[in-house]
Amino acid sequence: MKNRLLVALAPAIVSGMLTGCWKEPTRPNYDPPTNYRTEAAANRTNADREMNTNKTNNANSAETEKTKTGFKANLPDGFEQPADDVGTKLLREYGAVFLARGGVTPPKKVVFRNESEVAAFQSALKRRREMIGSFSMELQAAAMDGLQNAVKAAAAAGQKITPRGADSAKRTYSETVGLWNSRVDPALKHWTAKGKISQADADRIKAMATFDQVTEVLKLEEKGIFFAKDLSKSIIYSVAPPGTSQHLSLLAFDCEQHDNAAIRSIMAENGWFQTVASDLPHFTFLGVKESELPGLGLKKLSSGGRNFWVPDM
Ligand SMILES: [Zn+2]
Repeated sequence: MKNRLLVALAPAIVSGMLTGCWKEPTRPNYDPPTNYRTEAAANRTNADREMNTNKTNNANSAETEKTKTGFKANLPDGFEQPADDVGTKLLREYGAVFLARGGVTPPKKVVFRNESEVAAFQSALKRRREMIGSFSMELQAAAMDGLQNAVKAAAAAGQKITPRGADSAKRTYSETVGLWNSRVDPALKHWTAKGKISQADADRIKAMATFDQVTEVLKLEEKGIFFAKDLSKSIIYSVAPPGTSQHLSLLAFDCEQHDNAAIRSIMAENGWFQTVASDLPHFTFLGVKESELPGLGLKKLSSGGRNFWVPDM
């Protein structure tokens, strides 16, 4: 099924498929499905170039909750604007979630720094756990309402909406750390062996707090020392850096039927949109109508018959 899916997709879009969704099991010797780590799109840049960027103007929509225009103007009150390049890059890649409305609470910063920050954020939310398909899923309550309405609408049309796995909705910080390490550790070994990184630097990076590693790794990538699984492109197109996954916000859902256009429409009608340009199974609860998204400062990237709503910044 996955292979057929892969063939059907523009290779361009595959590259970052993993950004928010894919989480490798931690058992040793596991070889993840090839299509989910094919570094098939070493050329994400080209992919991005080919994407039909629809820069919709940011004029106020009558339906928009706020009258402010532009992505940054619509971020939550008190949002911590990133001051560094890494934060800005992450905001550009994963930032649509911060505009979420309709009774949910988005985070007010780009990166959660540790488990306790995530736990504090998650525990203050109005949450609900429900069976979706054969998995117990936890989401923010309004996002769960939207998902359940979508499930009902799909059923009425003779279709299904189910999660891809047990971790398709809520995730913990430590899950995002495990995945990060599964990329960083082998890459450090590789580049040390190649003499591109000194053993001292590798040891220094390993000893850093995870959050600080992100900055350090992205700095090395600027010099062509890449940390994605195939070592040919940025790690952020392979995994979401720890503390940045939309799943930590309980506003994301990885849908098994993501390749079905009718299902994508039903999800959108219920406030769930695709917001990470190359993460195909991943949906984000934004809690508004699609027609309101340009007014919130999101732009539409169309690729492979799909629409991704990403920050216009
Ligand atoms: Zn996801």
